[in-house]
Amino acid sequence: MSSIFRCIDCGKSYPLEVKTKCECGGLFEVKHEFREGIRRDIFDKRVGSPNPIIKSGVWRFKELVYPGLDNNHIITKPEGNTNLYTSKLISSFVGTPNLYLKHEGENPTGSFKDRGMTVGVSEAKRLGVNIVACASTGNTSSSLASYAAIADLKCIVFVPEGRIAYGKLAQTLAYGATMIQVKGSFDDAMSLVQQASEELGIYLLNSINPWRIEGQKTIVFDLIQQLNWKPPDWIILPAGNLGNTSAFGKALTELEELDLIDEKPRLAAIQAECADPFYRLWSTGSSLLEPNSEAKTVASAIRIGNPVNWKKALSAIKNTNGVVEHVSDQEIMDSKIVVDRSGIGCEPASAASVAGAKRLFDSGVIDKGEKIVCVLTGNILKDPDSTIRYFEGDLPGIKSNIINSSKIVEPSMRDIRKTLEL
Ligand SMILES: *Cc1c(COP(=O)(O)O)cnc(C)c1O
Repeated sequence: MSSIFRCIDCGKSYPLEVKTKCECGGLFEVKHEFREGIRRDIFDKRVGSPNPIIKSGVWRFKELVYPGLDNNHIITKPEGNTNLYTSKLISSFVGTPNLYLKHEGENPTGSFKDRGMTVGVSEAKRLGVNIVACASTGNTSSSLASYAAIADLKCIVFVPEGRIAYGKLAQTLAYGATMIQVKGSFDDAMSLVQQASEELGIYLLNSINPWRIEGQKTIVFDLIQQLNWKPPDWIILPAGNLGNTSAFGKALTELEELDLIDEKPRLAAIQAECADPFYRLWSTGSSLLEPNSEAKTVASAIRIGNPVNWKKALSAIKNTNGVVEHVSDQEIMDSKIVVDRSGIGCEPASAASVAGAKRLFDSGVIDKGEKIVCVLTGNILKDPDSTIRYFEGDLPGIKSNIINSSKIVEPSMRDIRKTLEL
């Protein structure tokens, strides 16, 4: 095999196996021995291919994701190849013309988690495991449940009771997962699933699993290829458990090592103000993350107080001369409403990237001339409650700046004219 696991804490190497953590408790990262002569045109030639594996926006980059994997093990829907949008409305809201939106909510189950899951579940097939599990705020569980169903694996998900968005709850159950609602926070569910996977021999597919990170690197590959390999100045993303921040950092370091890009974009990781342990770590210059046991935000996908990937993510921010910012729920919802109104649409957590871009632009961290890509992480349909409640002025602590409720009429033209004021 041309890849190994390496512990990010003690540096010990391991062959690829079921275990997802080092003896010392440190996280693994995948180290690849890349083959010679990986050039942009290899990937360019594959765009639009009808080949069932190559047409995936993840497996198109197989040489950079999992070079040694036998194609027979690959479980793909396919994923990726999501659109890169521009929008006058969003640009003028943020205050810069040079803005793109990479819509990862256009993945098969409606979030970027599919990019990590296709790799993680393919590895589960290679390893021959029977049961897979994760803790989730809803998108990881939806994605895992779907890929597990395709791969014919039993799937168990741990979610914080009553705290996941309705679309995600329905989706996870529909794909056939066994759902365990833990009376506690996401962080409680996360520590429970780690214990359960150790004691019950279940394969863990949270972003602790380094294969998830390998798959999620392709968000960066995909978007830079779409920009004709001319990287933006900034990539801005929502940050919860920090798997994506870690993946983006690794992707950029590898692209630079392989001479596939000339310069690395700067990363900006955006947290919600009342769920911002990573922001606090970064802004105080501390070397140890202090968990927040009371994490709270309307953006349920990033309601995480003890992010497992903080060490990898901190390296990612440092290695890209990046920044960490936080934004209020009001800013998140106001940004979401603009993204929705533009015709593009996203779930609340995704809009943290746009809210973060606006803050960084207003405070002068981002310059007017700079090209920025905001990553939209999840689909507009994932969390219908927050949208409707915003329009009804019914989100606690949030002021609704636009009201748009449906109108009920008698079945008569007279009533229609009156209602439409025409
Ligand atoms: C998972 C998720 C996030 C957070 O990503 P992390 O890798 O955990 O930081 C943000 N937005 C959405 C929609 C998600 O599903």
